[in-house]
Amino acid sequence: MTRLQVRFHGALNDFLAPERRGVEFVHTVQGTPAVKDLIESLGPPHPEVDVVLVDGEAVDFSHRVGDGQRLAVYPAFTSIDVTPLVRVGPPALPEPRFLLDVGLGRLAGLLRMLGFDTLWRNDYADDVLARQSREERRILLTRDLGVLKRSEVIHGYFPRETDPSQQLVEVVRRFQLTAHMRPFSRCIPCNGVLSGASPEEVRGRVPENVHATFTRFQQCPECKRVFWAGSHHDRMQVIIDKLRELEQQP
Ligand SMILES: [Zn+2]
Repeated sequence: MTRLQVRFHGALNDFLAPERRGVEFVHTVQGTPAVKDLIESLGPPHPEVDVVLVDGEAVDFSHRVGDGQRLAVYPAFTSIDVTPLVRVGPPALPEPRFLLDVGLGRLAGLLRMLGFDTLWRNDYADDVLARQSREERRILLTRDLGVLKRSEVIHGYFPRETDPSQQLVEVVRRFQLTAHMRPFSRCIPCNGVLSGASPEEVRGRVPENVHATFTRFQQCPECKRVFWAGSHHDRMQVIIDKLRELEQQP
């Protein structure tokens, strides 16, 4: 038997049994499992882990634990200074792109509204999701922990909230997206990149009263939909303004 002392930090505690949250606990395992397997057996999926210390030394996911060792496991964006340490978490993607699991369709629409390249279909199989997120370097968002724990997944996150607009706030914070937002630049139904269109170009493709009222339109080159700054635009602007305010908050 291998006896370990384990402590998880920050948001990784969300995945633990209540009595293990925020405290060091004793954990006994058979054999000498790799750090990735040990962590995931306790709850947290590896894409949310950034640094693992074993007896104060940073190790990678393949490191095998030994009897009497002490593990400290940290999520991304912790306040400890880990610069000189080996991170198991990947560096942030320069231009965040997303791949969303079946249950997150409304969140996909909100991320597209902010201009993020976001793929979502309601029929992705687990292995396809995991492989595609790796090959296309997309952040996989899913509330299926089994998918997140697949070893192919590098960038991934489990939204804690169930309400889509709360999930949006959570994801914007977790991946520090405010500076990357390009609101109203992408087609919400299909993810196409919108381009400007003149009133002449959209004549006959929008209602008469809309055509008479608005002077600026956008169109999607993929699905040919036409967009204008109507009432839904104002509601979305409220969400965007709130997200920008998050930047000012600690
Ligand atoms: Zn489109």
